[in-house]
Amino acid sequence: MLHSHVTPAIVLRARSLGESDKIVSFLTETHGKVTGIAKGAKRSRKRFVNSLEPFSLVNLCFRDRLQNSLAFIIASDLLRSFKQLATTLEKISFASYIVEVTDGLIGERDENPLVFRHLRDGLGYLDEHGASLRFLTAFELKLLQLAGYQPLLDRCKRCGKDRRDRLTDRWHFSPRDGGILCETCSRWTKEILPLAAKALEVLVDLQVERSTTFPCMLLSSSVVKEIRFVMQRFIQFHMDREIKSSSFLNDFSIM
Ligand SMILES: [Zn+2]
Repeated sequence: MLHSHVTPAIVLRARSLGESDKIVSFLTETHGKVTGIAKGAKRSRKRFVNSLEPFSLVNLCFRDRLQNSLAFIIASDLLRSFKQLATTLEKISFASYIVEVTDGLIGERDENPLVFRHLRDGLGYLDEHGASLRFLTAFELKLLQLAGYQPLLDRCKRCGKDRRDRLTDRWHFSPRDGGILCETCSRWTKEILPLAAKALEVLVDLQVERSTTFPCMLLSSSVVKEIRFVMQRFIQFHMDREIKSSSFLNDFSIM
C-alpha cells in the first residue's frame, strides 16, 4: 500500500459522485493541487465533519492509488471555515473568484507552498475585511508572480523602452507577450489591450507594494475598467478557459 500524507489544505471545489461519494479538489501546502475521492462523504459525516465545503482550511490526510490519478481521501479535519465569507454576496463572489483563478493557474501536483499561503491569506483577508477591487488586483498580481507568470509592466516587453520616459505614449498590454508594449511595438501586434498611463501606474504600484490596505483611490471608471480587463484577459490566457465567477466584477467601479 502507498504511504499516506498529511498536509494543510484549502478546499477548492467538490462535487457529488453517486449516492454517497464526493470528488474533492484541494490546494495543499506540500503536494500542490490534489484531487481525490472521499468515500462515503455524503453519508458518514464522521470523517468529514463540515470539512469538504469550498474555502475551508483543513488538515488533509490522503494517499495515492496505484494506476489512478484520483487520490484516496482518508480524512479531512476542519482548521478554519472562514465563516464571514458566507455573510455577504460580495464576499462569496470575491472568494469564489480568487479560488477559481488560483485553481486555474496551478496544475495538479504543482508543488508551491507560497501559492497555498497566498490563497489562505487572501481568504483570511476577505473573511476579516471588506472586499475591494484593489485587494483583488493586488492578489492577482502576486498570484501571477508566484505561479511564474509575472507581467512586465515597467518597460516595453519587446524593445525595453522605459515606461517613465514615455508617459505620453499610448501603451498597450499584450497577454501573449506577457507585458506592456510601447506605441511602436504595439502597432504591428494583434490582440492587445489599451492601458492608459494612469491605469498602468496603479498596476505598477500594486505590483511593487502589494499593499491592499491603503485607502481607495479615486479613479475614473474607464481606468478601473482597463485595469480589470487587462487582469482578467491575462489570467484567462494562462488558464486557457473562461473565468466563470468573474461576471459579478463588472458591477464594481471603485478601486
Ligand atoms: Zn517597444
